Amino acid sequence: MKVIRMYMNNRLRNFNYVIGCEQSRQAIALDPLDGVAVIQAAEAEGWEIKLIINTHEHHDHIEGNPAVQAATGAPIWASEHAVGKIPNVARGLVANEVIELGSMRFKVLPTPGHTPVHVCLLTLSEPVPILFSGDTLFNACAGNCFNGGDVDQMFDTFERQLAPLPDETILYPGHDYMKTNLDFALTWEPGNKTTQFWQEQISEHQPDEMPYMTLGQERLYNPFLRLQSPELLQKIKDKGEDASNKRAMFKALRHSRDHW
Ligand SMILES: [Zn+2]
Repeated sequence: MKVIRMYMNNRLRNFNYVIGCEQSRQAIALDPLDGVAVIQAAEAEGWEIKLIINTHEHHDHIEGNPAVQAATGAPIWASEHAVGKIPNVARGLVANEVIELGSMRFKVLPTPGHTPVHVCLLTLSEPVPILFSGDTLFNACAGNCFNGGDVDQMFDTFERQLAPLPDETILYPGHDYMKTNLDFALTWEPGNKTTQFWQEQISEHQPDEMPYMTLGQERLYNPFLRLQSPELLQKIKDKGEDASNKRAMFKALRHSRDHW
């Protein structure tokens, strides 16, 4: 399997992914925004796009569907709950079902929160698991819950679906927000040396050069994965927010982030 990550250079800073099986040369277009760019990327690899998959219904994750479908005939798959919300979904994906294409296998994780229909894809076929997290988990942040989302559902998703994943899992998020998210993380844990380190490391990086982080690394600086941190707990209390349990802390973090 090979993954092409494409930065869309738009205001929302989307990443598009083309995920190809190098043996069968079959590929998946994940959350296409610029359909033409996605088609060209697949052609450059000699891949045939066989599937279009959308993590959720927001326009910046589906806008390229028609162009990719017109050029390739690939069907659109998304959560069973996205049928009717995303045009022309041919198959509604069920929680925990396994998608196979060529030698690639992905588990469908139900991850409501950013929107009720959101799914993430977790590879089962790779030596090290890869998580395509859409707008659920970003580098150093969680997705927002103010455009049809629900922060309680997001917390449950983090507890049930993300917490069990192993540290070596590599994160492929739907947007490049790492720089501003690290700034955000530092407002909550100013003394976190790992956050400081990565902020320094990527300060000169262009979006295309952003590192691929593991969940183990995220767990060292992403405040939404660090609800056990004493510094974070104290900071939430200092701001007069409810820090009596992890759900309350998660909500305080999410409410403090007015965008992304
Ligand atoms: Zn979204």
